[in-house]
Parts: sequence; structure tokens; C-alpha cells
Amino acid sequence: MRIIDLYGREKPILSLEIFPPQADYPLETIFATLDHLQTLNPGFISVTYGAGGGDRGRTVEIAARIKKEYGIESLAHLTCVRHTRAEVNATLDELIKEGIHNILALRGDLPEDEPYFDLSRQEYRFAYELIHDIRKKAAFGVAAAAYPAGHPECLRLKDDLLNLKHKVDCGVDFLITQLFFDNRIYYDFMDKALTAQIDCPVIPGIMPVLNARQIKRTIYLCGASIPAPLLKLVDKYENDPEGMGKAGIEYASRQVQDLLESGIPGIHLYTMNKYRQIAEIVNNVGL
Ligand SMILES: Cc1cc2nc3c(=O)[nH]c(=O)nc-3n(C[C@H](O)[C@H](O)[C@H](O)COP(=O)(O)OP(=O)(O)OC[C@H]3O[C@@H](n4cnc5c(N)ncnc54)[C@H](O)[C@@H]3O)c2cc1C
Repeated sequence: MRIIDLYGREKPILSLEIFPPQADYPLETIFATLDHLQTLNPGFISVTYGAGGGDRGRTVEIAARIKKEYGIESLAHLTCVRHTRAEVNATLDELIKEGIHNILALRGDLPEDEPYFDLSRQEYRFAYELIHDIRKKAAFGVAAAAYPAGHPECLRLKDDLLNLKHKVDCGVDFLITQLFFDNRIYYDFMDKALTAQIDCPVIPGIMPVLNARQIKRTIYLCGASIPAPLLKLVDKYENDPEGMGKAGIEYASRQVQDLLESGIPGIHLYTMNKYRQIAEIVNNVGL
């Protein structure tokens, strides 16, 4: 089944993102989390893919087991930078063999440990090239990433939007956004996307801030900005993890509630492999 067929139904679709445990952790730890997450009745669960390809096998295995053992549709993330066309083709074969029908097609981050990394020498430079190959290969459902505040590498929002339009036109069914903490960023982006004739569903991705350290790392990794009300909470609860956890759940719940009231087709929650906090948000907003 292609995930795009879920959108446009009466109720907004809840989707969840998980990541494979690190190589030195048993794979089964993620299934203990999934045993709980499945009770939230998500429309689909997405499984991230390490930029360097380290957890490639784990992504495919987890995505396959989500379908087979939990009966939930899965969305396997696939990055292409630092992969050859032959490697990507082999992964697509594996996905087909495992019965996975939906891919989140990504370029992947540029390696932090290679300051002079030459993107132009890569077989894949941008996600749209991967999307092109996936479309040629088989009838997968294809999702891609969108950046409401602009992708950090692109200096002009206008160019980023044109690049996104081109990516969508290469065969994207729907987009999932980078996390943001101020809904105005998403609403403004949607106005611009409409003007740019990006007309596929754009599903907002929301991540609750559960501790002060996590937010610094998040901002460092994806360049999201913190609005003043959230910054105040982070300052207030800097040395009170429990208080920060509660405030973070409340903040994310309000964000999701507001988005739902605006009529979004679905919401994607970055679970960070946590169940209790995600369940609280889902219950708070009545999804
Ligand atoms: C929902 C979501 C899930 C993610 N999951 C993962 C994951 O599992 N694993 C992982 O490693 N990373 C993941 N990422 C991070 C992502 O890989 C990085 O943000 C990466 O830097 C960009 O990937 P992309 O697919 O958006 O790239 P692209 O769409 O290729 O864009 C990358 C940059 O290139 C520019 N660009 C695009 N096309 C052109 C062109 N033709 N000419 C010039 N410039 C162009 C864009 O404007 C942008 O600045 C995820 C991000 C999101 C939002």
C-alpha cells in the first residue's frame, strides 16, 4: 500500500519516526518500544537511516518487521550521498524483497569529519536524483524532506523552494517537514509552497523538547531556531529534567493542537524512541 492513499481521509493521520538502535545495542530494544508505540494506532511508522550507511541493514529489517509483525505500514528512510548507484540499487532490491513499499528519499547530511568533502564527485548529489532512480526501479510510494525555515546549506529561501519544487516534480507523493518550534514558520512556508505550486501534502514534523541538552544538539544538527517562550522554559528548567520533560510535552501538545485545528492532513512525531512522552502528547490532543 502507498502511504499517500492514507491522506485526505476524515481524520488526520498520525505517523511516528523511530531510529534503529546503535550497532552495539541489541536490535530487540527497538521492538520493546514498538510494542508500546503500536498502541497509539499510527497510520505508519518511519525508520531512519544512518547518513554513513552504518545501520542500513537494521533500517530494512526494522521496517520489514513493523509491517509483518505489527501489521503497520512502514516508511523506510534511504539516503544516497556517499552511496553508489549500484549500492542504492541493491538496497532497493532488498526493500522489494522484504515487501516494503514506501521510501523517504533523502540526500543525507554531508560528512562532518570531511571539511573538504566534494559533493560534485558523488554519484548522487541531491535527493531528486535518488527519487528519479526509485521511480525508474519500481512502484514505490515516495516521500521527501521539506525545510520550513530553509535547508541550512541553502543561502536563499527562494532557491531552496525552487529546489523543493523540482524535487517534488521528480515524483514525490508527500513531504515531511524538518522539526520546528513555532507554527508560524510552517504556516508561512505553506503559503510560499502554494505560490510555488508545490501541491502535495506537507506533513509537519514535531519533536517534543524533553531536556535542555537535547535542544542544543537539535539546533546544532538541523539549524532550527528556538522561539522566546520555549527558550524561557529551557532556561527555567535547565537543572530540573522532570520539570523540562513536563513543560516540553505541554509545549509540543499545544503546537500539535494548533496544527490540527488548522486542518493539516497528518502529523509526524519524532519519537526519539520514547513511548510515554509521545503517548501523552497523542492523548492530550485526542488523536
Ligand atoms: C523528515 C526528515 C527525515 C530525515 N531522515 C534522515 C535520515 O533518516 N538519515 C539521514 O542521514 N538524514 C535524515 N534527514 C536529514 C537530511 O538527510 C538532511 O537534512 C540533508 O542535509 C538534506 O537531505 P534532503 O533529502 O532534504 O536533500 P536535498 O533535497 O537534496 O537538498 C539538499 C540541499 O541541496 C539543495 N539542492 C537541491 N537540489 C539542488 C539543485 N538541483 N541544485 C542546487 N542545490 C540543490 C537544497 O536546496 C538543499 O539546500 C532527514 C530530514 C528530514 C526533514
